[in-house]
Amino acid sequence: MLGKIAKKLRILGFDTIYISSNTNDREILDLLLKTKRILLTSDKELFYRSKRYKCHSIILNKNTEIENLITIFSNLQIKVIDTLLSCHRCSICNNKLEIIEDINLLKNKIYQTVIKNNNEFYKCKRCNKLYWHGSHIKNIILLIERINKML
Ligand SMILES: [Zn+2]
Repeated sequence: MLGKIAKKLRILGFDTIYISSNTNDREILDLLLKTKRILLTSDKELFYRSKRYKCHSIILNKNTEIENLITIFSNLQIKVIDTLLSCHRCSICNNKLEIIEDINLLKNKIYQTVIKNNNEFYKCKRCNKLYWHGSHIKNIILLIERINKML
């Protein structure tokens, strides 16, 4: 479930690393101490261990994704999620996206109807995944509106 939350956070513009649950706790704690990142975990033991090292950690123990997202934003004292920040970070690898200036570069890579129906396209420099404001972004904007009502 946290993998999906990591993807959503990236789509919302947050710099998010996802570490699989079979990673050693010591490695995670070292990374936290070195990078000063915020730990999001559903693992109570790891949460309490990280607190002993004075890491900024948030326990995600709610039943639904939206409740866990609300927990994160409330903890970070974020009052509003900006819809303009979405589509700036790759949901797969966390790299920043760049806008594609030359639409001709998209030919043979995505459907003509998609090219015709959208005017902004983005590309991840690292993994080459293409993004546009399709239905998935519309759903994200609906999610942001739901979150903003609950914050
Ligand atoms: Zn990428």
